[in-house]
Amino acid sequence: MIDLRSDTVTQPSDGMRQAMAQAAVGDDVYGEDPTVNALEERTAQLLGMQAGLFCPTGSMANLLGVEAQTPPGTEVLAESRAHILRAESGAHGALAGVTSRTWVSHDGSFNAAQALSLVSPPGATMLTPTATISVENTANFWGGTVADPAELTTLRQETARAGVRVHIDGARLANAWVARGTAPEFFGQVADTISLCLSKGLGAPVGSVLVGDTETIAAARLLRKRHGGGMRQVGILAAAGLFALENNVERLADDHEHAKAIARTLAFAAPSSVDPAAVETNIVVLELPTGTASEVSARAAQAGVRVSQLGPSTLRLVTHLDVNESQATTAADVLAGILSSLT
Ligand SMILES: *Cc1c(COP(=O)(O)O)cnc(C)c1O
Repeated sequence: MIDLRSDTVTQPSDGMRQAMAQAAVGDDVYGEDPTVNALEERTAQLLGMQAGLFCPTGSMANLLGVEAQTPPGTEVLAESRAHILRAESGAHGALAGVTSRTWVSHDGSFNAAQALSLVSPPGATMLTPTATISVENTANFWGGTVADPAELTTLRQETARAGVRVHIDGARLANAWVARGTAPEFFGQVADTISLCLSKGLGAPVGSVLVGDTETIAAARLLRKRHGGGMRQVGILAAAGLFALENNVERLADDHEHAKAIARTLAFAAPSSVDPAAVETNIVVLELPTGTASEVSARAAQAGVRVSQLGPSTLRLVTHLDVNESQATTAADVLAGILSSLT
């Protein structure tokens, strides 16, 4: 089976398992797990922030990032397909008392002016005050599009003036900086909090790190405990994250190459299904003839290729470190065969 459903399906490598087995651990609720502390410091430093907080999931890291700086009864703004609003089980409303409004991108690219046009000034009484703007980078449901660094800089300047915080849902931020050659510490200059997922393309079995300034991360640490996310000898998992940051970041460029190659093959077989030029990172979204997504996905699975269905006519393919070049080629050929048989 070549599994392109998600980059979460990776198996920890032997080296990663060894690092986990050998990790020094302590009780992290007491702040005494040296491996967790090392991972939090390393991630914060990497992203140009003061402090970090290890979280079991990306959803919790996003929730804590938003909750720590968005008081109940204020709002977070995000794009219409944002994971925080569409795919986190309503957590921000249900658990943090935060409301939301959305702007609508036309192609997944991030436009700061569009986001800023929605801001209600903090302290507004007639309107729900905007506390936070959340930007997803890369934008998952748009096919892994990268936010333009210049737009993020504009957002930072204008939100600083308006007293609005910025959260980056960076589940795949490493894909963004590898794709554009951006220095990771740039993101610390344009956001107040960032979540970074270790269990997507980076290949760890579990974990995300939330980074920000010391005060915001201290608030998030308290909230993590409140939500039942205080963990004990969890350095065993943090060790996998450290290993991932050390070994699995630069190689994301290979995943990006594989995704582009798949997109080129599929565009040749079915030109309306995908624009290879729009594939920037490790995600390929396929638009199929109306209502054919489940048929294509079932036929692909029979031929040994698993993909995920985003809608009745939409499929998503994600490359990752357990798919090598020849498997990517095989998957593309299998799917190309199915797509050309449809028309
Ligand atoms: C996967 C993902 C998350 C959440 O990660 P979980 O670990 O599954 O909770 C958040 N944001 C984006 C954009 C994602 O793709």
